[in-house]
Parts: sequence; C-alpha cells; structure tokens
Amino acid sequence: MGKVLIIGAGGVGTVVAKKVAMNASEFDEIMLASRTKSKCDKIAADIKNVKIRTASVDADNVDELCKLFESFKPELVINVALPYQDLTIMEACLKCGVNYLDTANYEPKDEAKYQYSWQWAYHDRFKEAGLTAILGCGFDPGCTSVYTAYAAKHHFDEIHYLDIVDCNGGDHHKAFATNFNPEINIREITQRGKYWENGAWHETDPLSVHKTLNYPSVGARESYLMYHEELESLVKHYPTIKRARFWMTFGQEYLTHLRVLQNVGMTRIDPVVYNGMEIIPIQFLKAVLPDPGELGENYTGETSIGCRIRGVKDGKEKTYYIWNNCSHEAAYKETGAQGVSYTTGVPATTGALMFMRGLWKKPGVYNVEQFDPDPFMQEVAKQGLPWNEAHDIDIEL
Ligand code: NDP
Repeated sequence: MGKVLIIGAGGVGTVVAKKVAMNASEFDEIMLASRTKSKCDKIAADIKNVKIRTASVDADNVDELCKLFESFKPELVINVALPYQDLTIMEACLKCGVNYLDTANYEPKDEAKYQYSWQWAYHDRFKEAGLTAILGCGFDPGCTSVYTAYAAKHHFDEIHYLDIVDCNGGDHHKAFATNFNPEINIREITQRGKYWENGAWHETDPLSVHKTLNYPSVGARESYLMYHEELESLVKHYPTIKRARFWMTFGQEYLTHLRVLQNVGMTRIDPVVYNGMEIIPIQFLKAVLPDPGELGENYTGETSIGCRIRGVKDGKEKTYYIWNNCSHEAAYKETGAQGVSYTTGVPATTGALMFMRGLWKKPGVYNVEQFDPDPFMQEVAKQGLPWNEAHDIDIEL
C-alpha cells in the first residue's frame, strides 16, 4: 500500500486514473497531476467510487515536481506525461525518495533518438537510494516485453527469433489521426527503421520494408518494419536472440497523409520562424489534429498486438505466438478512452499493483522483462487485457 501520483492527463492518463480508481483498495490515496489542471479535474469528476486529488505541475521542472512530491508524499509516481519529462521526473524521485514507473523511454525534444542509455544511467543512483524505477510498462514496450519474459521462462531454453507484431485493426472514422500523442507518434514512425540481427543493428529507410501478416480476428494487414524501443532492452536481456524486429500495421490512407505532411515540412522538429516567432511545425500539427483522447466515441474494431517467437526447447525447434486483442468499443465503454490508450494504461496500472504488492520492487532501474512475468500476466488479464497463445504454428516470419 502507498499513495500514488499519476502525472499526465491525456488518453493514457485517463485510463490509468480510472483503472487505479477501480483498484482503490490497493492504494492509500490517489492524485492526478498534469500541466493543465482542468484536464485532471474533468477525469476526476468522472470517477465516483473514490476521491482523486488533482494538481497542476510542470513536469519539466524538478523544483516544481519536488514541491508537489513533498506535499503529497507519494510512494510511487506513474509517469504518463510525455517521454521528454522522464528524466526530470526521475531526478525529482531521487531528490524526494519516490519510486517511479513509466511507459516510454526518454527522448530529447530536439532529436528523435529512442534509446534507454539516459535512463539506464540512473541505475546506481536509484539502487543506492533504495528506490525502484520500472521502465516501459505500457503495451509495447510493456506487455510485449513481459510476454517475451514469460515465453523465455516457460516455453523456451533459448529464444532465437523475436518478431513483435502490432496491428491496429480499428477505424476511428477520421481522415487522419494518431492513436497517441501525435508528436511522439509521428516522430517514431518517420525515423529510420532498425532491427537486430547477428549481434548488430541494421538500418532501413523509413517504412521501406513491409510484409502482409495475418492477425487473429482482424485478418491480413500490411505490416511495416520500424524501430521500437523494447528491441534495445530485449536483445540486451536475452542475448540468445539472433534477430529481433518490430512490425506495425498502417493503412494506405494514413501513409499518404503522412507522406504529404512530411513532404510539406509539417513533421519537422526544428524551429521555424512564423510571424516573427519560432514555432516547431510538428507541435503546431499536434494542435490541429484530433486529440487521441477524444477518438474513442466512434472507434470500431480491435487492436491485436503480440510476439511471434522461434527458438529451441528440449533440443527441438519451436514456434510460439502470444497476443492480446483489445476492442476499441469495449475500452471506450469501460473508460471513455480508445483501445490504444487502454492497452497502455491497463499495463501501467498493473505494474503499479505489482509494485504496491511488493512483487516488482527492487532498488535500481529495470525494464519490465527483468521482473517475474507470472504475477503480472495473471493480473493484467484480470484488469482487462487477457492474452492468448498458440504453440508450433506457422508464425509467417
Ligand atoms: P497525450 O498527449 O494525450 O497526454 C500527455 C499528457 O501529458 C497531457 O495531459 C499533457 O498535458 C501532459 N504533459 C505534457 N507535458 C507536460 C509537462 N511538462 N508537465 C506536466 N504534464 C505534461 O499523450 P498520451 O496519453 O497518448 O501518451 C502518454 C504517454 O504514453 C506518452 O509518453 C506516450 O509515448 C506513452 N505511450 C506508450 C505506449 C506503450 O505501449 N508503451 C503506447 C501509447 C503511448 P497538456 O494536456 O496540458 O498538454
């Protein structure tokens, strides 16, 4: 037990606040803080079973964070603001003796890098302070990382080939929208592709490698190889992996919009001068795109995300597929948010429960696959993301 402070009141923050409230008996007190307090108040007003305190905080500012931490005295911070805030929040956690959990790795604002080095560098300081930091506890990273740990623990002596496959088979009925923060999403998709093979990283032109894959209950979807942050920690923690790749589905309509936006410079992350002031085109684009938190109402269809694995067990070659399908409509009915926010917020809440129960608690900075996957797998299914598995099938990759 302990007090929990959720930072970030977007689509994911909405789901985390609501799911944490549904598990209120496991937390002493709940606070939701974000840059814009009115957004926290709106979410808190929807929650009837328990009182949620709200606050405004600029999470780029360590002193402001510390003031909030000192007044509320949380045991754990769930960071579902943006990746830019990871290090300031971790710094404040160290200053004030607070444990930490997030869903996305740190990224500097002026460069799309996606690497864990900055956060891993905090390991010794968290260890010495006796504090736990849990990194990447959304769906991917998050569930996909725990699925890999679960596969390694129960079904393989060695994992050799890992393909993480992320399909959004849903339709929000908008011409163009992103399913989570547009700035972060577009930065991620437009970067060069990268995968791990035979002990080295190999780069590809953005979205240049693609393949048709079949997803349970969704069907065939064109899937594009791209870099995703969990590849870095998984190849480190499972050194038997010979090749690790990440695939995500995109429709033609989405790709056409993205290409045009890129070609006209709207996805740039460097400042341009407009009417005498500096603006960053991708931040302006975010302001005019639909808010991912508001997409839920007419969203139909399902997400289907999982891991397709090849390796050996008891001297024999083996394939294994573990996945979750999540209905956007069901997610909306339960939390008022669409499936992508839901599949991120439910694992973050589950990670917080693991921490509060003392099951995922060890001083230092850890990726989720470094903890015991079993209690998480059991709990995440109860919390709304049940998983399926298939053995020795054709995994297409
Ligand atoms: P949103 O943009 O909807 O929400 C972000 C929230 O953070 C907003 O409430 C925003 O406030 C707040 N925020 C931004 N900057 C600050 C700041 N300096 N101080 C305080 N609050 C701030 O994003 P999402 O909810 O879609 O995503 C949240 C996180 O989840 C992101 O880091 C994203 O990368 C991650 N994610 C992870 C996934 C996974 O599977 N691992 C999948 C999807 C998302 P304001 O409204 O005032 O701007």
